[in-house]
Amino acid sequence: MIEPHSSIASRAPAGAGPLVVGVDVGGTKIAAGVVDGRGHVYGRVKLPTDTARPEMTLQSIAAGITAALHAAEVSPSHISGVGLGIPGKVDPEHGIGLLSVNLGWQDVPVKHWLEEALGLPCVVENDVSAATLGESLYGVGRELGGLANLVYLSLGTGIAARAMIEGRLYRGTNGLAGEIGHAIFVPGGPLCRCGARGCLEALAAGPALVLQAQEEIQAEGDSLLQELLDRSPKPTAELVFEAATRGDNLARQILAEAGSHLAHAIYLLAVAFDPQVVVLGGGLAQVEGPLIEAIQFGVAQWAEQSPVFREVLDPGVVRLSALQQDAGILGAAALVAVKG
Ligand SMILES: [Zn+2]
Repeated sequence: MIEPHSSIASRAPAGAGPLVVGVDVGGTKIAAGVVDGRGHVYGRVKLPTDTARPEMTLQSIAAGITAALHAAEVSPSHISGVGLGIPGKVDPEHGIGLLSVNLGWQDVPVKHWLEEALGLPCVVENDVSAATLGESLYGVGRELGGLANLVYLSLGTGIAARAMIEGRLYRGTNGLAGEIGHAIFVPGGPLCRCGARGCLEALAAGPALVLQAQEEIQAEGDSLLQELLDRSPKPTAELVFEAATRGDNLARQILAEAGSHLAHAIYLLAVAFDPQVVVLGGGLAQVEGPLIEAIQFGVAQWAEQSPVFREVLDPGVVRLSALQQDAGILGAAALVAVKG
């Protein structure tokens, strides 16, 4: 069941220096790898997340860590710690998964359980917080020679942002700072999984794009988008991207609207935090494409209208994540590196 990630040499070279394990725990897959001080990833593995019961999920996480060590040919005695990025609300101080809808978790003592099972120190954080640290340490932050102020906006099944302020992750009083995905952008709009209507997430996250496509094709009649959706048993936002790239008007319209809402979010985040850059990450921001173009167009429009926005953020400093496929593993590894 464990898939080696790619043909890239996976064995950690002798004398690679201090090593940590980074684990990205998702609702469907767990990705793990061994990471050195320069951000090189060895022994990448992916395995399915068993969400039947919290103990089963913890067991699949432990199996992922063991498999990554095996693939990198590294003994646990060379590992200084394990970092875990987990979706939902997390208590990083005590290492508890407080609430995760994707994993079906409530008050799960992740750190305690894994430390007992593996005999390695573990650090647990919200996955978007971890990605923000990873981007600062190994990604755009490193490319730009270090960043003190960075906003990371994750676009995928959910939408959330996190901010690094003066070199430190800002969590807020309840650990909810940056949950802009649940800010209401269209009062009375589509129902969000949080129970409110018209949240940014219900307008522009992956499932929202698919839902809009499914609702609107019925009104529009035959289209390329309809053909692609009909062919797919489990449609994803990538189909809407594909239809837009191939010139489908309805798909382009859906993405233009989502891009405009996301640009509004970037504008608000920039004015609130005055960052050096805003990094776009997550599954919907892996490559340049029609959604990113729509966001960039929207950002340019806000910049045209708002002198304050122009002053705090040149539209050119909205960037895609530099970490790509390794973002989750490197973000989780950064938790240990930053702590150490
Ligand atoms: Zn919501």
